[in-house]
Amino acid sequence: MAESIGKGERRVIVLGTGGTIAGRASTAGDNIGYKAGEVGVAELLGGIDAPDGVSLLAEQVAQIDSKDMSFAIWQTLARRCAHWLAEPGVAGIVITHGTDTLEETAFFLQSVLAPSKPVVLTCAMRPSTALAPDGPQNVRDAVVVVSTPGVQGVVVVCAGTVHSAFDVQKVHAYRLDAFDSGDAGPVAYVEEGALRVLRNWPAPAGSARLAFERMSGAESWPRVEILVSHAEARGAIVDALVQERRLGRADAIEGLVLAATGNGTLHHALEAAALRAQAEGVAVVRATRCSQGRILPRQTEVLRDAGALTPVKARIALMLELLSGERPA
Ligand code: ASP
Repeated sequence: MAESIGKGERRVIVLGTGGTIAGRASTAGDNIGYKAGEVGVAELLGGIDAPDGVSLLAEQVAQIDSKDMSFAIWQTLARRCAHWLAEPGVAGIVITHGTDTLEETAFFLQSVLAPSKPVVLTCAMRPSTALAPDGPQNVRDAVVVVSTPGVQGVVVVCAGTVHSAFDVQKVHAYRLDAFDSGDAGPVAYVEEGALRVLRNWPAPAGSARLAFERMSGAESWPRVEILVSHAEARGAIVDALVQERRLGRADAIEGLVLAATGNGTLHHALEAAALRAQAEGVAVVRATRCSQGRILPRQTEVLRDAGALTPVKARIALMLELLSGERPA
């Protein structure tokens, strides 16, 4: 635990997990040849003023490149969030995170916490050692969001834009404004320390409690794989995964997300294999591989769809569903 910044009574907890925001390169001019997850979260808060009446408290939960995110870290992070959110004097939480899996962590935390206080993930596209790093401004903006009365739920703050955990996606591999909310649009903008709110914050959900308990107590998580439908797709990988189940392998798949074309359509060979898998007890879900829009359900479909969830978020939803012991129809 680092010493706190500011003297205010309302506390904002800043949990560090690594990422480019905590990255270090050997030269200041190098924006890509760095190592992520090097600089401690307390150091990232250097030079950031706490708003009036607020104090910042830093805690290092992990120190990784978020491409390597694990269930174990998610479990720890969710538990630390739950711990701090339950403290009456805590206004909310900021999480510094890599951009690569940020949308997955955000969606996971919204699913298991659905908090009535704000949990704000932030990040950077340039390492902390860059000539003009974007991390410090993003952290400042995240602190503004979390300290603003009335904010709730899990959101992402990057480049002055606030995205809901449900809609956010990394859409650019290099630009500082790397995230987008698709059709839904951002929830708010942060402008010179003030919020311009455009729509509702992610809402608390009663189902999160059960999801949290099952997730928190789980020693292993159900294996759910993602396969993409594309030209000349085949069913061989699905059949091989199902064969592992037949052989009784301990980590055999329990679920399958198919990144489907357009409105949830699948190459016929992949679809046939997915139907065979479903008949053998694998939970199969179709999610569109399009970056915008949602699957509009058709009555004739035998494989259920994930609506507006992207394949990576549909996978998290399916894992949590399987952990809760709910079997899809
Ligand atoms: N690989 C980095 C990470 O996700 C990328 C970033 O943070 O921008 O941790």
